[in-house]
Amino acid sequence: MNNTKGGEFLIKELEAQEIFSIEDFSDEQKMLSDSAQEFVDREVVPNSERFEHKDYALTEASMRKLGEMGLLGVAVPEEYGGMGMGFVSTMLACDKVSGGNGSLATAYGAHTGIGTLPILLYGTEEQKQKYLPDLATGNKFGAYCLTEPDAGSDANSGKTRAKLSEDGKHYIINGQKMWISNAGFAEIFIVFAKIEDDKNITGFIVERSTEGLSFGEEENKLGIRSSSTRQVFFNDMKVPVENLLGERNNGFKIALNALNVGRIKLAAANLDGQRRVLSHSIKYANERKQFGVSISSFGAIRKKIAEMATAVFVSEAGSYRAAKNIEDKIAELVEGGMSHQLAELKGVEEFAVECSILKVFVSDITQVAADEGIQIYGGMGFSADAPMEAAWRDARIGRIYEGTNEINRLLAVGMLIKKAMKGELDLLSPAMAISKELMGIPSFDAPDYSAFMSEEKALIKNLKKVFLMVAGAALQKYMTEIEKQQHLLLNASEILNQIYMAESAVLRTEKHFAEGSVEAAMAQLNLYKAVEKIITSAKEGIVSFAEGDEQRMMLSGLRRFTKYTKHPNVIALTEKIAAHYVEKGGY
Ligand SMILES: Cc1cc2nc3c(=O)[nH]c(=O)nc-3n(C[C@H](O)[C@H](O)[C@H](O)COP(=O)(O)OP(=O)(O)OC[C@H]3O[C@@H](n4cnc5c(N)ncnc54)[C@H](O)[C@@H]3O)c2cc1C
Repeated sequence: MNNTKGGEFLIKELEAQEIFSIEDFSDEQKMLSDSAQEFVDREVVPNSERFEHKDYALTEASMRKLGEMGLLGVAVPEEYGGMGMGFVSTMLACDKVSGGNGSLATAYGAHTGIGTLPILLYGTEEQKQKYLPDLATGNKFGAYCLTEPDAGSDANSGKTRAKLSEDGKHYIINGQKMWISNAGFAEIFIVFAKIEDDKNITGFIVERSTEGLSFGEEENKLGIRSSSTRQVFFNDMKVPVENLLGERNNGFKIALNALNVGRIKLAAANLDGQRRVLSHSIKYANERKQFGVSISSFGAIRKKIAEMATAVFVSEAGSYRAAKNIEDKIAELVEGGMSHQLAELKGVEEFAVECSILKVFVSDITQVAADEGIQIYGGMGFSADAPMEAAWRDARIGRIYEGTNEINRLLAVGMLIKKAMKGELDLLSPAMAISKELMGIPSFDAPDYSAFMSEEKALIKNLKKVFLMVAGAALQKYMTEIEKQQHLLLNASEILNQIYMAESAVLRTEKHFAEGSVEAAMAQLNLYKAVEKIITSAKEGIVSFAEGDEQRMMLSGLRRFTKYTKHPNVIALTEKIAAHYVEKGGY
């Protein structure tokens, strides 16, 4: 167990031993992984075509089977009918269940995450006793109703209103929600509404049989076509007062905390999809012959395969690293006397920055992987008869729901700045130390990089200085107005995301793999590309907001902090990775 704080990766040098990754799974976790994977291979993948043709009943039936296997209750404590496993295991279940099909992944995520967690985290004992056992076993399904036609990213601005009835026994709710996953078959709805003229929304638990609750038709969607998505209408809907969730006016907090979990789970939900897209692509590339040879022998295709494999390795590294940090934080808080319910909340909240980073990085790169998968398949990739077309359409939603990627990028940097302002994270002293370092003369001593991954780690330490230098100077310039500088915040977010993911991959490699391994090649290739992306984003910011000497000094700092003593041979690394996976025939 380690006691890393959220966002602290920016100012702390971590030891490889402190990082958790797939290689550290317990036997129990491996069994969980195998049984979920076996289910998906047997029940989900063979039905891919039905999932593409709006077979909502199939999604519901698959969810029931997942319930019978216990896979809907991984996060729910045993006393409420679940398995009560830790955060890493809930991520792993999500990873493996979600890989076979995007529609089922969405139904699973909406039910186990935002549909169940608000009750688990904020419910009273009575509410938990009443609703969780059914949700954990798949006897009933959950949905989460936050978005409205005029309130999407600005989720607290919804028009849905609740009013206490004259006899004080019910809230009368009127309004409308939109894009509600699982609406077609869910029995339990987490509904957010403002009570009278309250400033903030409040959460309610609403049962499907409630009078005044009705639904729109299924939406026609680009992807995840068998995931039920409907509008939900409330017309003088009477909700018993005991179904108010948490405290009045506190719904936005509930919504956000559920979304934090949803975000990191969305990263997990994209992992196995990426692995499967890659494995299909490699298999196809090995079988497809052009110019008398397999297309997997062409450098152009091998480069894609190497980059796709690297993306999976890096995505896994970041996702499970953060998951274990959250699990450890929860355990630490429970040991300190906090209730499990509150500890779970605080544990995830602590790592909200990492949850946003992962949501953005993994959903973006999953889309790229599916796109490259189509390209490897050539014309066949464009056909609905091959698996890439659906994978590409299904991947697209990951960048929109659970907070769009733009919102999550802005949030991640914004949350870090707030943590620093509140004194929870000392970003100021290291930022000031960097200013001093920039004024000083750089050391010309040749560093000793003989230890495995030591140059990579030294480089990452310097990349953190790039973030602190750029974000620190921008903050000094714009102060409280920084929120309005979205271009700059997006640049900062790209730097942040690349640092976290590159560090995760390097530390995973140092802990579990050896010099010359394919994993080392992936960590190095990713780091090289991360450095290039960081240079672009940092430079774009520096030349836009800094001038004169300050600009010159920062640009020289950028060069200093992104310097290799010896550049890796990028093509050799790419070839090494491609050769390994092409020969293996999959990921
Ligand atoms: C298939 C599907 C399933 C969904 N499931 C659910 C569900 O189960 N429950 C639920 O409550 N919701 C659900 N949603 C809704 C989803 O969370 C929203 O669509 C999402 O939050 C974006 O809101 P919006 O669509 O209103 O877009 P908008 O908020 O209108 O955003 C449009 C564009 O503007 C950008 N933008 C908006 N505000 C800002 C800002 N301040 N700064 C910079 N850029 C900004 C966005 O990034 C985006 O690119 C689902 C949506 C879909 C499509």
